[in-house]
Amino acid sequence: MHDLVLKGGRIIDPAQGLDTVGDIAFSAGKVAAIGQDLHGQDIRDVGGRIVCPGLIDLHTHVYWGGTSLGVAAEPLARSGAVATFVDAGSAGPGNFHGFRKHVIDPSPVRILPYLNVSFPGIYAFSKPVMVGECADLRLLDLRECRRVARENADLIVGIKVRVGKVAGGDNGIMPLDMAIEVAEELGLPVMAHLDNPPPARKEVLARLRKGDVLTHCFRPFPNAPARADGRVREEVLEARERGIVFDIGHGGGSFGFATTRAMLAAGFLPDVISSDVHAVSIEGPAFDLLTTMSKFLCLGLDLPTVIRLSATNPAKAIGRPELGTLTVGAIGEASVIDVVKGRFDYVDSIGEIHTGDRRLLAAGLVLNGRWWHP
Ligand SMILES: [Zn+2]
Repeated sequence: MHDLVLKGGRIIDPAQGLDTVGDIAFSAGKVAAIGQDLHGQDIRDVGGRIVCPGLIDLHTHVYWGGTSLGVAAEPLARSGAVATFVDAGSAGPGNFHGFRKHVIDPSPVRILPYLNVSFPGIYAFSKPVMVGECADLRLLDLRECRRVARENADLIVGIKVRVGKVAGGDNGIMPLDMAIEVAEELGLPVMAHLDNPPPARKEVLARLRKGDVLTHCFRPFPNAPARADGRVREEVLEARERGIVFDIGHGGGSFGFATTRAMLAAGFLPDVISSDVHAVSIEGPAFDLLTTMSKFLCLGLDLPTVIRLSATNPAKAIGRPELGTLTVGAIGEASVIDVVKGRFDYVDSIGEIHTGDRRLLAAGLVLNGRWWHP
C-alpha cells in the first residue's frame, strides 16, 4: 500500500524518456512505482491531466520582506505547481543569513539560492527606486562572498552577478570578472545577468565557462542573441558549443517574442525556461513559470520539451540530479498540470502580443510524497 497514488494521468518524464498514461505511486517521500492499477491510502484521480517532475524555476526572487523585489514562494508554489524556487542572487554576503533563517529554512517548498557577488544583494530594485548593486565596486568584496558561500555550501548553488548599464552603471565587464574569480575559488558556476551594454553580449559570453548560466538569454535588442535578419550571432553558437547554459529569465524587461521566434526558427532552443518572477514582473508580463512555459508551448515547442526545459534541465544546471525526474527512488515531487485550450493573449517585455491556443494551469503539487496542493 503506497502513501499516495495519482491515477490515470499522462505521465511525462523527459529524464527517462517517459510519456505514458497510467498511475504513479509515492511512498516514504519518494517515487515508488509507475504502472497500472496501483493502490494507495490517498488516491487522486488525475485523468486527462499531465503529471511531470516537480517544476524547478531556475530564476526567481523569493527573499520576501528582506528585499524590495522579493515575492513569497509558498503562494506561487500553490498557484503555479512549482516545487523548487532557485533564487537568483536576491541576497548577498551581507544579508544571506536572514534569507536563510527567516525564509529558506521555514519554507515548505524548496528554495535554493545563488549568492550575489555584491554584499547587499539586489537591494534597490523597485518601480520608484532602482540602484544597481554592481554600480559601486566597493560593494563587491570577494573574501566576504567566499566566506558566506563556504559557510552555506549545503544550500548555495552558484554565484550571481548582474552586469549591464542598469545593474552595473559604468563598470562594464568588471563585476563579471570578479564573480568568476570567486566562483573559481569555490568550484561553483556563475549565473550572469545581462541588460543594456556595457558590457556587450560578446564580452560576457567570451568569459563564461562550461556550466555557467547566461540568464535573460532571449532578450530583445540590444544585446539580443539574434540579428535583425534572424541570424544567430556567432558568439552565441560558439558559447553553446562550450556548454554555456542558456536560461530564459523572462522578468520585466528580458524576453522578446521576435528574438525567441528567430532563435527557435534557427533550431536554437534555450536550455532552461524560467520566469524571473519578482515584485514587479509578477504583475506581468512574466507572471509565473507556467505562463512562461505556456508561451513556449504556443510558439511551437511540444509539451515534453517544455517540461524538459523546466524540470530536467534546471536540475542539471544546479547540480541536483535527484530533482527533476520521476525515476523510481527519486525525491517524491510531482507537478500536475492542465492544458487548457482556448484563445489566450500573451505579452512579452516590449509589449508585443502573441495570441496562443493553449495555456498551462496548475492542478496539483506533490511534495515529500504527499498531496500538498489545496
Ligand atoms: Zn532576476
